[in-house]
Amino acid sequence: MQRAGGVDGGVIVNDAELERYSRQIRLPQVGEAGQQRLLDAHVLIIGMGGLGSPASMYLAAAGVGHLVISDFDRVDESNLQRQIVHSHGDIGREKAASARDRLEALNPRTRVDALDYELDGKELAAKVAAVDVVVDCTDNFPSRFALNRACLAAGTPFVSAAAMRWHGQVATFLPQRPDSPCYQCLYPDESVEAATCAAEGVIAPLVGVIGSMQALQTLEILLGASAPLCGRLLLFDAWTMQWQTIKLPRNPDCPACSSRGGG
Ligand SMILES: [Zn+2]
Repeated sequence: MQRAGGVDGGVIVNDAELERYSRQIRLPQVGEAGQQRLLDAHVLIIGMGGLGSPASMYLAAAGVGHLVISDFDRVDESNLQRQIVHSHGDIGREKAASARDRLEALNPRTRVDALDYELDGKELAAKVAAVDVVVDCTDNFPSRFALNRACLAAGTPFVSAAAMRWHGQVATFLPQRPDSPCYQCLYPDESVEAATCAAEGVIAPLVGVIGSMQALQTLEILLGASAPLCGRLLLFDAWTMQWQTIKLPRNPDCPACSSRGGG
């Protein structure tokens, strides 16, 4: 993407971008240089459902320059109660294409690559290695374990979350930090079976809250902040409106990261 000037030239973002992003450029933690980092950033979001909807929409709106979104499912009427990136007219369409259209309408300057098949193997490894952050908006453990291993191998920050019934959780894993746990430090047993929203239900705005937390954490990582959710698991009980943070240390016997240095 063509940019006016550069950090050294003093002028960073162009006039249209200055106007569009003025409310966050005003923040001392962002500024023009931070906005430029977001414009130059490349983020992979897996899953365009309840969490992927707000996560992708806030990242596009905030000016993240390049989003790769992946989902192999199609929009079903029962998704629309919470998956707000899709509209009623999208029922039956591929979620990846439906989400891309919405994100491009939201911010035409964000490049959106839509993948409508399951990313795995070498292609998953290559995509994870090419981006600045991976955002886990999937709904199952096998996908999360595969993403975790790919992020460990590539050293890519991994922002993972889950939401069901009235409960949500978010954690961040930074493989390049020796003290950072990985996703499997939290769930060492690969045979664990996830409950599903289809069976258990989920209250609509909960995924908005949790997916928005993923977008926030992703922006903070892109801005070079300290990623406060690394080594901590943030839990939200939407029924009692209680937030809780628990420590999440590295597991020395973790099947995925125990062979890695540090700890
Ligand atoms: Zn681990």
